[in-house]
Amino acid sequence: MNCKEFVRCIPAFLNKDLEYAQLKDFCEHADSCPECKEELTIQLLISKGIVHLEAGDAFDLNKELSNCIAEAQRQLKSYRLNRKKAFYLELIGGAFAVASLVVLFL
Ligand SMILES: [Zn+2]
Repeated sequence: MNCKEFVRCIPAFLNKDLEYAQLKDFCEHADSCPECKEELTIQLLISKGIVHLEAGDAFDLNKELSNCIAEAQRQLKSYRLNRKKAFYLELIGGAFAVASLVVLFL
């Protein structure tokens, strides 16, 4: 996956819409390309973090992003195609559970 493809996949990633192979490439690219990781951070902030900011909550975006990607990579290892939906729900749910904890502790 190149940078152009990565950026094009960000909305699908945030919408839990990536296929296994794409998600794998996506995570690998995010890990190796700081520019794209930053772009992902910005889009994550726009789509999710703005709610926290508007509410005046603390929101550790970098930590959420790291956890989101780390979780995706862990789960990719044990991923099964027929569990795609469950995987995405866990991934996103996990990221937001972490974000909630961060908010609570600040
Ligand atoms: Zn890139």
